[in-house]
Amino acid sequence: MLLPEFELHEPVSIEDALKLKKKHGKDARLMAGGTDVLVLLKKKVIFTDTIISLLQIKELSQIKESGNEVVIGACATMAQLSKSSVIKEKFGALKSSCDNLGSHLIRNRATIGGNCCNASPAGDTMPSLMIYDAKVMIESTDGKREVSIKNFFKGPGVTDLAIHEILTGFKLPIPPKNSGAHYIQLGKRRSSEINVVNVGSFLEYDPDTKTIINSRIALGSVAATPIRAQKAEELIKGKPAKEDTFYTAGETARKEDCKPIDDFRGSAAYRQAMIGVLTKRTLQASFEQAQ
Ligand SMILES: Cc1cc2nc3c(=O)[nH]c(=O)nc-3n(C[C@H](O)[C@H](O)[C@H](O)COP(=O)(O)OP(=O)(O)OC[C@H]3O[C@@H](n4cnc5c(N)ncnc54)[C@H](O)[C@@H]3O)c2cc1C
Repeated sequence: MLLPEFELHEPVSIEDALKLKKKHGKDARLMAGGTDVLVLLKKKVIFTDTIISLLQIKELSQIKESGNEVVIGACATMAQLSKSSVIKEKFGALKSSCDNLGSHLIRNRATIGGNCCNASPAGDTMPSLMIYDAKVMIESTDGKREVSIKNFFKGPGVTDLAIHEILTGFKLPIPPKNSGAHYIQLGKRRSSEINVVNVGSFLEYDPDTKTIINSRIALGSVAATPIRAQKAEELIKGKPAKEDTFYTAGETARKEDCKPIDDFRGSAAYRQAMIGVLTKRTLQASFEQAQ
């Protein structure tokens, strides 16, 4: 199966990319690494004769620490994020998501912006971005805006982005001390496989009272979009940081926060059971890191 012919634009600035997007509207597709777009074009799932590549825009590939946050450009690749010292040191769960996405070849091309804009409920980087409370940076010719990642996903393949907008990056607040985070993905094989379930947790605790001050838990592959396990998060706030609490959080996430479906990768019952197990495990690991 051959790729259909298309006109390729390679702007070198965000401004030029936005002008092109405005000119071509819904007839043009944005492309970063192309690991989703080119596959879908080849399979004739999507159609376009105009592609606007974002890869020549240098600032979109940067990872910068600035004050109390880290800004990740939309075109930073999985390989680049995995190697970045600030991501390794401060955002271990995100590093783990990037390490687990696809194969070496895919990780060298696949970008974090592309992963989020593709908006698969099973995508690897989204739960990690959600637990670190990332803000999504968006631009159009009309200006800039930011939206919390928890409100960015609207359905499978659907995001908050309007047709003339480009996702330019993510702002991640640097996690406070006495906090930790962890990500686990469960697939049928170890790599290049769509997740059956994926879970990320963040936890901040008070070493004096040994209680949990704050937590964020994100679940993938169990709803139309990645979701926060809000009931489990609320339940453990102020509770002692210990195994019983993590177990209860897992049970709440399993019973109250998710409603998975059956598909060829796994049954709803299996997914739900795994949410309980992985939520508990990620919280336990986050706590060990926080200590
Ligand atoms: C063999 C294989 C294995 C894979 N394994 C995994 C896996 O384990 N986990 C996983 O999560 N994914 C996996 N994927 C899917 C894919 O690699 C990821 O979703 C990847 O992160 C997409 O990034 P990209 O830069 O290639 O996106 P692209 O294909 O370039 O774009 C994806 C979508 O986002 C839009 N887009 C891209 N950048 C922007 C932007 N800055 N602003 C607005 N819209 C934009 C495009 O128009 C398109 O709709 C796999 C794919 C393949 C082919």
